[in-house]
Amino acid sequence: MTEQERFMKEAVRQAKKARALMEVPIGCVIVSEGKIIARGYNRRNTDKNTLSHAELNAIKKASKKLGDWRLEGCTMYVTLEPCQMCAGALVQSRIDEVVIGSMNPKAGCAGSVLNLLEMDGFNHKVKVTRGVLEEECSSMLSDFFRELREEKKRKKKEEKKDTLSGTEDDPPRKTTGNEFS
Ligand SMILES: [Zn+2]
Repeated sequence: MTEQERFMKEAVRQAKKARALMEVPIGCVIVSEGKIIARGYNRRNTDKNTLSHAELNAIKKASKKLGDWRLEGCTMYVTLEPCQMCAGALVQSRIDEVVIGSMNPKAGCAGSVLNLLEMDGFNHKVKVTRGVLEEECSSMLSDFFRELREEKKRKKKEEKKDTLSGTEDDPPRKTTGNEFS
């Protein structure tokens, strides 16, 4: 296993924390001088906060640890290509490098929709490495969404069954059916 893969594995571990909260599994770590100084995972639903992406959570922790908003000399390992908000924050943080697991064709801003990390016009460019443990990172996401769909289908079926078996003495149980949406 290369060093990049080793750190991406740690990002995957963070993503699994999000998964355990029924959040979209996205995780990251920030490395400075060969050591992990901050970790983060997606907590958007849990925190009910648009800003609670894995990358921003980790950037906050790294700055606290370093006592500096500048993350010069640091590298972020993230399981999914950052969105426009996080890519913008990464440029602002002056981080050296971002290592990405899987790309996000519909929303990614490190080369998919846009490439905010390597724009000539800005005063800072972030080095980008793509495709580290790509398969593991992308199957983690597709498994999550598949399970979500199956769970929704199962709930719908159950709801229907309850309605059919309900009598006056035993009224149909109401399920919300939208716990994950
Ligand atoms: Zn983001």
